[in-house]
This record gives sequence, structure tokens and C-alpha cells, in this order.
Amino acid sequence: MALVEIRDVRKSFGTNEVLKGVSLDIDEGEIVTIIGRSGSGKSTLLRCINALERVDAGEIRVEGKTVRTDMRDLRQFRQRVGIVFQAFNLFPHLTVEKNITLAPVLTGKASKSKARQLALDVLERVGLAEKVDAYPEQLSGGQQQRVAIARCLAMAPHLMLFDEVTSALDPELVGEVLKVMEDMAKQGMTMVLVTHEMGFARNVASKIVFMHQGKVWEQGKPAELFANPQTPELKSFISSIK
Ligand code: ADP
Ligand code: MG
Repeated sequence: MALVEIRDVRKSFGTNEVLKGVSLDIDEGEIVTIIGRSGSGKSTLLRCINALERVDAGEIRVEGKTVRTDMRDLRQFRQRVGIVFQAFNLFPHLTVEKNITLAPVLTGKASKSKARQLALDVLERVGLAEKVDAYPEQLSGGQQQRVAIARCLAMAPHLMLFDEVTSALDPELVGEVLKVMEDMAKQGMTMVLVTHEMGFARNVASKIVFMHQGKVWEQGKPAELFANPQTPELKSFISSIK
């Protein structure tokens, strides 16, 4: 059984059908990179996996369990499936430690006395332990995004979703965030990323999924997919990003 099973998922906003029957399997430990033009449905698919959007038809199962926006254990589900967005979404009035420990303490995942150690542990993994008492505004964009990733890690997720997490960063800050994600990949985290960083997609992804007009148009291993695109749409996409 795959960790994530997506079966013929459809999703519309009004009359705009954004996902037109998407099927995809994601195995444990896989690093799946979703590429495709703006508007092809990449973010919507990620949001459906995390139950931030309701699917109209089809089914998504994570760890064998059907994902629904009205599932009874939605909160626990979202702890197992972390998502990081382009905007860092840190609370500006809270320190890095409190940003990270708020949810684990509220949900009882960490006691108050263990919270600081938890923050330090996950900050260590993103190389920012020394910023535990800083406020978000004292950090660069790249550092804030690494804190946002650490905040997800504090919930010990089984799956992490990343939606263009480096797109809002100054170019010189992109590398440090990609490095953190590469480290997580090496440690065996199952990850689904939407990214324009084709170097990362080529070198780190176990599978590339090319979405086009609300469908999985092509998928495959990075080397094969990039070297030998099967459709004119992927060919044209690849030449547009070179
Ligand atoms: P991508 O991430 O590939 O750029 P999206 O999934 O964000 O694509 O969007 C696909 C389409 O769905 C776009 O046409 C977008 O305008 C539309 N869309 C996305 N979210 C919403 C929403 N909440 N309400 C209405 N339309 C939306
Ligand atoms: Mg998007």
C-alpha cells in the first residue's frame, strides 16, 4: 500500500474544473516533485491531500485512511501531514521557540517543560538553534522559512508537503532552504514538493509529476522524464524553464 493513494480526484471552483481526474501513488520515503505551468492545479492538489480543500469526486487516502475535510480526527491528521507554503506564516509577535511549540503544547504532543528542548531539537535540524529566542522580523526570509519547516517537524509528521517554499525568497537565500529539504529527504521523510527549482527536482526527487490542465500529464524518474519527455506539452514546458 502506498503512503498516499490519489484516485481519480476531481475538484472545481464554481464552473472551473481545476483537477480533472488525478491519480497518483506516493510511497513511503519518496520525494515527489510536482512541476507544471501556473494554474495547472498543483497547489489545489496539495491542499486536497492536506484536507484544506474538499474533493468533489474520487478519493485520497493517506496511510490507508480516506482524507475528508470533515474527518473526525482532522487535527491529528494535519499533525501527520505537514504543509509549508510560499509565505512563511510565522506569528510575528511570538519568538521562534513559541512559534514552534505553540501547536505541540496545545495538542498535548509536548509538555511545557519539554517544549524548549523540542524547539532546540528541530531548530538544530534546520541549522538555526541559535535563533530560538529571536522574533521572526529579526530573521532573513530564508531563516524564517527554515523556522516554518522546523515548526512542522515539531509535530513529527509522516508526510511533508511544500508549496513553492522558495519562490518568495531572494535568490541568495534559496540554497539554504533547499539544503534543509535535501537533508530531510536523506533522513527518509516522505515529501511532496511543488517547485520551480529544476536542479533540486533533478537531483533529489525520486519521481517527477508533470501536471497540465488539471491532470497528471506525465510522471517518471527525473533523468528519464527530462531526457525523454513523451508529450509536446512537457517538451515545451522543459524548454520554457531552461
Ligand atoms: P497552480 O498551483 O498549478 O498554479 P492552482 O491549484 O493554484 O494552480 O490553481 C488552479 C486553478 O484554480 C486556477 O485557475 C486558480 O485560479 C483556481 N483556484 C485555485 N484556488 C481557488 C479558490 N480558492 N477559489 C477559486 N479558484 C481557485
Ligand atoms: Mg500554486
